[in-house]
Amino acid sequence: MAYDENNIFARILRGEIPCDKVFENEHVLAFRDINPQTPTHVLVIPKGAYVSSDDFAEKASDAEIAVFFRAVGQIARDLGLVAPGYRILANHGRDAHQEVPHFHLHVFGGKDLGRMIKPADK
Ligand code: 5GP
Repeated sequence: MAYDENNIFARILRGEIPCDKVFENEHVLAFRDINPQTPTHVLVIPKGAYVSSDDFAEKASDAEIAVFFRAVGQIARDLGLVAPGYRILANHGRDAHQEVPHFHLHVFGGKDLGRMIKPADK
């Protein structure tokens, strides 16, 4: 799948659309989800043009990947989520209902998140 330069996160990265930024470095931007599913719901995105987790894992440089996951840890620490706990999640493709075609990790926290998959969902 080709990268869509006009997807909403590409536009946020270009500063065309505002975001509630919580973290930024040379490879990473993180901001609060516009429709939060938990009291804390942050999206962490690479600045590079990667469609999905698969694209990122295949094509990003070692430095981009390392900086990205170090940033996720830093963000969770900065938001005070380490002691109570948090969940990170990436949707890839149709079955996961990925909506925005720019790789992003969701960071959820701020309440008891329950178990990841309910037995009835299997
Ligand atoms: P996905 O389903 O692709 O994993 O998640 C996309 C997420 O992006 C959703 O949680 C949605 O609320 C969020 N989102 C969509 N448009 C915007 C936007 O313009 N700004 C922000 N901050 N979040 C957005």
